[in-house]
Amino acid sequence: MSENQPSALITIFGATGDLANRKLFPSIYHLFKKDRLNPKFAVVGTARRELSTEEFHNQVKESILDHVGPEEELDEFISHFYYISLDVANTDEFSKLKSLIDQLDEHYHIGGNRIFYLAMAPQFFETIAESLYKKNLKSAFGFNRLIIEKPFGHDFASAKELNDHIRQAFDEEEIYRIDHYLGKEMVQNIEVIRFANAIFEPLWNNRFISNIQVTSSETLGVEDRGRYYEGSGALRDMVQNHMLQMVALLAMEPPIRLNTHEIRSEKVKVLRALRPITGNEIAKSFIRGQYDAGVSKEKAVIAYREEDHVDPNSNTETFVAGKLMIDNFRWAGVPFYIRTGKRLTEKSTKIVVQFKDIPMNLYLKTEETLNPNLLVIHIQPEEGITLHLNAKKAGQFMDATPIKLNFSNKSTDGMNTPEAYEKLLYDCLRGDATNFAHWDEVALSWTYIDPIAKAWEETKEPSFPNYQSGSMGPKKAIELLDKDGFHWWPVTDLDVENC
Ligand code: NAP
Repeated sequence: MSENQPSALITIFGATGDLANRKLFPSIYHLFKKDRLNPKFAVVGTARRELSTEEFHNQVKESILDHVGPEEELDEFISHFYYISLDVANTDEFSKLKSLIDQLDEHYHIGGNRIFYLAMAPQFFETIAESLYKKNLKSAFGFNRLIIEKPFGHDFASAKELNDHIRQAFDEEEIYRIDHYLGKEMVQNIEVIRFANAIFEPLWNNRFISNIQVTSSETLGVEDRGRYYEGSGALRDMVQNHMLQMVALLAMEPPIRLNTHEIRSEKVKVLRALRPITGNEIAKSFIRGQYDAGVSKEKAVIAYREEDHVDPNSNTETFVAGKLMIDNFRWAGVPFYIRTGKRLTEKSTKIVVQFKDIPMNLYLKTEETLNPNLLVIHIQPEEGITLHLNAKKAGQFMDATPIKLNFSNKSTDGMNTPEAYEKLLYDCLRGDATNFAHWDEVALSWTYIDPIAKAWEETKEPSFPNYQSGSMGPKKAIELLDKDGFHWWPVTDLDVENC
């Protein structure tokens, strides 16, 4: 078996759902097209509804036609797909799944390598893991890997309970907790930019960096996920996982080796160094918002409280801004500001590293200030890096003017980078867990978030709704930086395309 083309039998729980259709089938197809999938592979889809093999094949075909485009080789690819109707709440039904995957394993000479992808609501994670174990679906001779979607728990206690249950069936090394941000090209690039360039690492500390800003903004509202979102909110949905993962990558020490264990352990150290936010500090360091009606992308849109399945008096936040402090030698005194929210001005995920001002301004009038140097990492939708510098204004005099050095991922290879899910599936196939969250990371993130989530649940926010759809969030989020003498760098001005 080639290390880069591992054979495997992939079982997808929730194969009729949105995630499977929008992300998983197209990702598996891309791997197939790129010869990253060993021809000895099979995919078994399961869900409750009854589907014939032909109906399932049509569903997979449609998913690929919709999300990839017209393709020629679909028949060969689709012939590897099988479907079995199964209610995961009933452990006995796993026996029929076992006989199907045992047969397919033999038929395709897969060698016992199994991936179980839980693309289902989190309340089923425990029972599926337990039934897989009890009914002997784990193979005795190949690898067994369990991929779990977010959310991993609702707080530390529930995440621990879930983890304890799953660990009775799967070892930590067999568990792949998805954080799809970790599969994004430019999130992975943070590490390379930092550790492969001599010019950044010496400056990457509190002597030269004044603050770091991480923004992940969406223009969409809650859409049809009102029921889920009401029980979650932006803090749990975005901050506990994606935002803290980006902070950890930005702040970690260089690992001694680029392997899963070393990288994860450096990220864990950052999460351990996060200054806990409790009591009165919560209101000083974290701001919550909820969108009101407004105009988004030139269309009038309704308030969060008017969305389907949302309480008309909802206390759920659709926006979070926070100031995080990392208490270690490298970062003492440097605020990491994060903000994320729905119905904001632009869809954009960006990191802005703001360097400290030079000690003296020689080039502008005394009342003017030179622009600080910024390193901007564009995560999505554009992918790239911009370095903001000052240079001489063309002409007679020695005046300074801001300039930007720009790298756009799209313009170099002329194509979009692979979807996060495609990369993560391939990582899992190869047994590389680096870009999945280890339990220690999940546990520390919940420990950090829990006091804030609890305080927000217990106190109703009287100002909700407190930001207009189409804006960049509540006024208090601006004041959060104002009082430290900083401001949010606008997401639009920093676009790669505009540079
Ligand atoms: P979904 O569209 O609601 O799909 C749920 C799937 O579970 C369906 O295939 C459903 O099929 C099946 N199902 C429900 N109850 C079942 C049962 N008792 N036994 C067997 N199958 C059952 O959900 P989704 O959007 O795909 O999300 C799946 C997971 O991914 C969730 O944890 C979600 O938080 C996470 N996630 C999703 C996205 C996304 O883009 N959709 C993004 C990030 C994370 P039947 O009704 O036929 O049983």
